[in-house]
Amino acid sequence: MIIAKTIKELDAALSPFRESNKTIGFVPTMGALHAGHISLVDLARQHCECVVVSIFVNPTQFAPHEDFNNYPRTENDDVQKIKSAGVDVLFLPSESVIYPDNRESSVKAGNAALGLESDFRPHFFDGVVNVIYRLFQAVKPNVAIFGEKDYQQLQVIREMVETLLLPMQIIGAPIARDSFGLALSSRNAYLSARELEIARQLNVTLKHAAKNGDTETAKKELLSLGFHKIDYIEIWDNRILAAAWLGKTRLIDNIDIS
Ligand code: AMP
Repeated sequence: MIIAKTIKELDAALSPFRESNKTIGFVPTMGALHAGHISLVDLARQHCECVVVSIFVNPTQFAPHEDFNNYPRTENDDVQKIKSAGVDVLFLPSESVIYPDNRESSVKAGNAALGLESDFRPHFFDGVVNVIYRLFQAVKPNVAIFGEKDYQQLQVIREMVETLLLPMQIIGAPIARDSFGLALSSRNAYLSARELEIARQLNVTLKHAAKNGDTETAKKELLSLGFHKIDYIEIWDNRILAAAWLGKTRLIDNIDIS
């Protein structure tokens, strides 16, 4: 596996694949990798001859009061996991490689960003689109894989690719869960043992709500279980989507109701 830290190193690593017309599959991540990320890598491998993973904790998608500084960073473990998963190129840019001049972006998130996450994290999707557009320009993938775990984000990226006519395919990957149904997330590392038990009820509550369509009861249930704030539980695009706070950890999840 080649580790590229600059655009020049990335181009050098990818040029043999590009020159022989190999399909390039790309999985952007913020690291602290778990089995959910690796399932995206496996999907990329099924579709493409060359698999690129990036690890970059993107400052523009965090508001000043959010957890950018505390976001889990486990680079050595991540490199081992990615190597074992058979990745061809790991792109590990520093902030100045992604944002050489400033952090402004000409590309903004479209209509898919309206509501839900944006009501609580108004800066978030413009930050995501900013970094993903820059990463796409660097990697120039044929296919990029995003998890349904971040369902609204997946739709925002699809819309960006369609609007800008970017010549690539976006594939959504199913949510990887633990044996209790908890969606795997780098932020689960913040949970205490007691909070983990409570967190594992989120998917159960959402499944009930998916059956009966009663989001208000689901909110009450989560609060009585020990969640202290519900940002939203809403039905959107044949899914029930939720964001809820447990201590200092914000969890998101969603379930297909079609
Ligand atoms: P992150 O490192 O949190 O930015 O996530 C990188 C990619 O992995 C995004 O496309 C996420 O949607 C995806 N992802 C994160 N957790 C999961 C999961 N439990 N199942 C499937 N995909 C996931």
